[in-house]
Amino acid sequence: MTDIFKKTVSVVLTAFLSLAATPEPTSTARLAPSSLAPSSDDERPPACASPLLDEARAAHERLCQEETCAPEDLAVLDAAVAALRACALRRQELSEVPPLPAAAARWIFPVSRMRPQDSMGGPDGKGYLKNRRVTCYASARTGHPAHDLFVRDRRQSGRDREGRAFEALAVEAGYVLATREGWTPENGGAGGNYVLLYLPARNWVAYYAHLDTVAVRAGDRVEAGAVLGKIGRSGRNAWASRSPTHLHFAIWEPGRNWMPIDPYAMLRRASVSSASASE
Ligand SMILES: [Zn+2]
Repeated sequence: MTDIFKKTVSVVLTAFLSLAATPEPTSTARLAPSSLAPSSDDERPPACASPLLDEARAAHERLCQEETCAPEDLAVLDAAVAALRACALRRQELSEVPPLPAAAARWIFPVSRMRPQDSMGGPDGKGYLKNRRVTCYASARTGHPAHDLFVRDRRQSGRDREGRAFEALAVEAGYVLATREGWTPENGGAGGNYVLLYLPARNWVAYYAHLDTVAVRAGDRVEAGAVLGKIGRSGRNAWASRSPTHLHFAIWEPGRNWMPIDPYAMLRRASVSSASASE
């Protein structure tokens, strides 16, 4: 066993034990009254806070920065998902939150006010280029195991004719695994500002990249259609003027080396949300 792997295992175990031992305040159990309300009310701590989620974010950052797929980083991400799952089940057992719904037959389309047929890049989902491993990159070498979902904005403003921002929405109920904000062209990062959303009903993780702003925090429980942030142009390639404004949306499967899954069929028949930005 390598030193870094030993260290990772020890960090993961310590964090997991501390999570299991910490009682969570019951005041955090109430869900937002509207499923479309942002769940990051500053007064309200995340539903499932854990140091393990910080570890997961760091592991994901390494994965995206280095274009590698280190087994120890995937192990950290797996442990964070297991912790979220355990927390969700515990809260359900304590009747602090309603049970998570089963896998939705139809998703909410992840970009507000856009119809799948107007938003999805490439004819018939051809924008999805297979790769047999998790990646934050898109290139001839890595493929593009994701769908780019475009918005109709004016002069790459991220806003429509009425000046409304487009929002990134939870396709179904889940828990926020990690987020990043504060991307600049100088500090790098292929995905820019992003949200990783764990979807317990399918045991999938959804990756929402190139966001402008992020409205949720790691550990938040969100309902289907909840606002995760605003669609933007952050990220190495998305920032460039040649790139139309879009959401990079990928699905990965934890526990199976984070294999990418093509969500084309679910996206194509997703229902359109009329959510509009609050400003
Ligand atoms: Zn993309």
